[in-house]
Amino acid sequence: MDSDWGSQKFVAEQFSKWYRSNARYISAPPEIMSREFAFLTFEGKTMFRHIGFTDESAFRRYLTDNAPSHSYYSSSYYKHPEAEMNNKGWSGADLVFDIDADHFNLECQKNHDKWLCRNCGKSGVGKPPELCVCGKSQFETETWLCENCLQEAKNETQKLLDILIQDFGFAIKEDLIVNFSGNRGYHVHVRSKNVRFFDQSARREIVDYILATGIKPEYIGFTPRGRGAKSILGDEGWRGRAGKAMYDFIDSTPPEIIRSLDLGRTLTQNLIEKKTDILKTLENNHPSFVIQKFASKDEERVMADLEKLLTKAIKQQSADIDTVVTTDIHRLIRLPNTLHGKSGWQTQTIKPEHLSDYDPLTSAVVLKGTDIRLFVRWAPKIRIGDTVYGPYEGEEVSVPLPVALFLLCKKGAKVVN
Ligand SMILES: [Zn+2]
Ligand SMILES: [Zn+2]
Repeated sequence: MDSDWGSQKFVAEQFSKWYRSNARYISAPPEIMSREFAFLTFEGKTMFRHIGFTDESAFRRYLTDNAPSHSYYSSSYYKHPEAEMNNKGWSGADLVFDIDADHFNLECQKNHDKWLCRNCGKSGVGKPPELCVCGKSQFETETWLCENCLQEAKNETQKLLDILIQDFGFAIKEDLIVNFSGNRGYHVHVRSKNVRFFDQSARREIVDYILATGIKPEYIGFTPRGRGAKSILGDEGWRGRAGKAMYDFIDSTPPEIIRSLDLGRTLTQNLIEKKTDILKTLENNHPSFVIQKFASKDEERVMADLEKLLTKAIKQQSADIDTVVTTDIHRLIRLPNTLHGKSGWQTQTIKPEHLSDYDPLTSAVVLKGTDIRLFVRWAPKIRIGDTVYGPYEGEEVSVPLPVALFLLCKKGAKVVN
C-alpha cells in the first residue's frame, strides 16, 4: 500500500500558504459566539470539534495557524458552543439544505466514478450495486466529478431557491445564503427568525413539501369527476407547479418513453397522437377535462396511470435535497470561504441572483501557481478554468498548481521529486 497518494504534506503546505495571506478576508458566520466550530487536519483523522470563538480575529487566527483540510461550523446556535453536546443549550438553528451530485444518478458518473468489491475483487464504473455478485456489500469507491455533475447540482439548487422564494416567501436578499460546497454541490442556508426554532418534525415537513412527497393527482384536479372551471397552470404552490410539471412532461417526453411507461392503451395513444390537444386543454381548462376527453372510463386504472405520470413529472420539478441534513438540528456544515480538502477548491458564497452564471471550475479554483510534476495513478477528464486536463492513467504529467492540487486532493496522484 503506497501511502503517499495525495502527497498530503505538499497539499498542507499549499493550504497553509493560502490561509496565511487570505484568512483575513474570511468572514466569520453571523452570531459567531453562539456557533460551534469543527476542523480536520491533514495529519490525523480526528475531528477537532466543540470549538468556540469570541470574535472574528480569533477565528481568523485559528485558520491561519492551523490551515485545516476541512472546516465546519454549526448551523445551530448554542448558549455554550464549547460544551459537550448535552450541555450546549440549543437555541435555534438555521434551516439548511444540501444538494450533492453524489446522490444523483447520472450517466457521467460512469466516466469518473469507480468501485471495487473488497470481498471478491470485482470492480465496475459508476455507483456500486446494492449487493455484489459475491453477496457482500463492502465496496471501496472512488468518486470524482465533472462539469455535468456540477451543472446538475446547480439546476437542483435553482429549483430549490424557486420553491423557497415563491412558495415559502423567503426574501432572496435577506434570508437566503447560497454556497458552493467546494466539491460536488451547493448548500442553501435560510437565516430567518421564522424558522430558527423549528424542531425536527417541522423541518421534516418542509422537506416533504420541497420533495412534493405524497402529492396525488386528485389533489391537483386530475380526477375524472373534477368540476373546476379553470386551468391550474397559473396556480400558486404545488398545484400550479405540479400542473406545469405534467404539462412539461407530456410536452417533452418522446413516444418511446411514453410507451415504456405501460399506461392504459387509450391514454398512451392519446398522449402520443393528441399531444397538442392535451396541452391546449391543460392550458385552457381544468385538468379533469383531460381525463374526460383523453383517458378510458376505467377509473381505477386511469388514476393509477396518472399517479405514475405525476411522479415522473414532479421529479423534474422538485429539488433533490438531502433529507438528513435538513432535519438534523445539530448539523455541522462547511464553513463558507474556506478550502475543501477533497478538491483544493474554495467553498464560496454566491449571490442567488448570480448563481446561473457561476462557474465553480473557474471561480472556486483560488490557489494559483506554476507547473507541478506529478505521477498520476488514474484521473478522469476535468475542465479547470478554460483548459481540459486528462484523462490520465499511470503517467507522469506537468500541470499547473490548481490542477495538481485537485488531482492530489482526490488521491489520484503524487508529487514527483
Ligand atoms: Zn464481491
Ligand atoms: Zn459528472
